[in-house]
Amino acid sequence: QILELARERGRRVKVLGGGHSPSDIACTDGFLLHMGNMDRVLQVGRASSLLWRGEGIPVAVPSLGAVSEVTAAGVIGTGTHNTGITHGILPTQVVALTLLTASGEILECSESENAEVFQAARLHLGCLGIVLSVTFQCVAEFRLREVAFPGTLPQVLEQLEQHLLRSQYFRFLWFPHSDNVRIIYQDPTSRPPRSSSSWIWDYAVGYYLLEFLLWISTFFPGLVSWINRFFFWLLFSSRVENVARSHRIFSYECRFRQHVQDWAIPIGKTKEALLELQAALEAHPGLVAHFPVEVRFSKGDEVWLSPCFQRDSCFINVILYRPYGKDVPVLEYWRIYEGIMRKHGGRPHWAKAHSCTRRELEKMYPAFPKFCSVREKLDPTGIFLNPYLEKVFC
Ligand SMILES: Cc1cc2nc3c(=O)[nH]c(=O)nc-3n(C[C@H](O)[C@H](O)[C@H](O)COP(=O)(O)OP(=O)(O)OC[C@H]3O[C@@H](n4cnc5c(N)ncnc54)[C@H](O)[C@@H]3O)c2cc1C
Repeated sequence: QILELARERGRRVKVLGGGHSPSDIACTDGFLLHMGNMDRVLQVGRASSLLWRGEGIPVAVPSLGAVSEVTAAGVIGTGTHNTGITHGILPTQVVALTLLTASGEILECSESENAEVFQAARLHLGCLGIVLSVTFQCVAEFRLREVAFPGTLPQVLEQLEQHLLRSQYFRFLWFPHSDNVRIIYQDPTSRPPRSSSSWIWDYAVGYYLLEFLLWISTFFPGLVSWINRFFFWLLFSSRVENVARSHRIFSYECRFRQHVQDWAIPIGKTKEALLELQAALEAHPGLVAHFPVEVRFSKGDEVWLSPCFQRDSCFINVILYRPYGKDVPVLEYWRIYEGIMRKHGGRPHWAKAHSCTRRELEKMYPAFPKFCSVREKLDPTGIFLNPYLEKVFC
C-alpha cells in the first residue's frame, strides 16, 4: 500500500533501520519507512546443518559491528564489518533473506532460490526493495576474552602477520601525531566474566574531560597532538583484560558526534598506507587528526558490493570529533586520506563519508555492473533511490 501510494504521488521510498549510518545513505525527502521495531527473532533452527537447533541452545553470530542499536537489514545493507582475518564482513554471514520488491512481489532469496538477487541483496544499499527478514548463520553462544596492551606503530606493522595469527579478532588503534598504538586481542574463552570498566576513567576522563579539551583545541589546533599523547598515556598505556559474552565485547560505546571515513585496502598495503598517512600528517603541521585511527581486518569474500570483494582487506577508520556538536574542518584531512586510500586500491565503506561517483565505483568494484543489472530489473523506476544512491548509480 505504501509503495502504491508513493507511486501515485510520484514520491520515493526509503527504508530506515536503526538510522545509524553516518553517511546520507538512509536519508530521503520522500516516504520514510521505519523498520526499527521489526526486531523479533522469528526462528532459531537447523537448516541443512547450517543453523543450530533451537532446543534451548543459545546462539550468537560469529562477528558484529561496534554499535548495537542497529537492525539486521541495516547492517548488511551497508556492509558493516568487525575485525579478524578469518571472519568476513556481516553480509557473509547471511544465508537467506526475504525481499519485498518495488512491484509488490515477495522473493525468498538464498544460494538455491533467486540466487542472483540473493548475491546482490546480501549487501543491498537499501535500493533493491524492502528486506522483511534475514537468516544468519549462527554459532553456539560464546564468551570472549579481550586483552589490550600498548605498542608502537612501526612494531605493530612489522609484526602484522604474527598479530593476525595470534588473535582471532585482532585490531589496533593508532594515536595520530605519535607512534603510539593500542593493540587489542579478542578470543573465545571459558574464563569467568571480568570487567575493567570504571566510570571515573571511562566517562569522567575519557568522555567529559576529553570532550572539553577537544573543544578547546578547536581554538588552538596545535593542542590535538598533545591531547592524543596525553590520553594515550592516561588511559591506554597499560594492559587491561575483560571477559564477557561475545556481543558485549564486540560492541563498544562511541560517545562522540563525529565525521568518519573507513576505506578497505588490500591487506598487503596496510603498512605502506599507514606510514604514508603518518608522513602526510607530519608534512602538514596545520592538519589535525583525532585519535584513534582504528585499523581492522576482514577476510576476502564474494559479496558483489563488498569492500573486501575477492581480497583479504584492512579497514582504516579515521575520525574527526565534533565536540559539543561544534563543526571542525574536515576537507583537507579527507582529501589526503582519500588520496592515499585510492592510491592503494581502496574501496569506501558505504555507511561512511566518501566522495566517490559512479565512474570511480565501477572501477573499484568489479561486480558493480552485475549489481546494477539486478537493481534495474527489480526497481526500474528508482523508487528506492535517494540523493546518495543517485550519486552511486546515476
Ligand atoms: C556509533 C557507530 C558505530 C559504528 N560501528 C561500526 C563498525 O564497527 N563497523 C562498521 O562496519 N560500521 C559501523 N557503523 C556503521 C553502521 O554499522 C552502519 O551504518 C549500519 O548500516 C547501521 O545499521 P542501521 O540499522 O542503523 O541502518 P540504517 O542506517 O538505518 O540503514 C542503512 C541502509 O540500509 C537500508 N535499510 C535498512 N533497513 C532496511 C530494510 N528493512 N529493507 C531495505 N533496506 C533497509 C537503508 O535504507 C540504508 O540504505 C557504526 C555506526 C555508528 C553510528
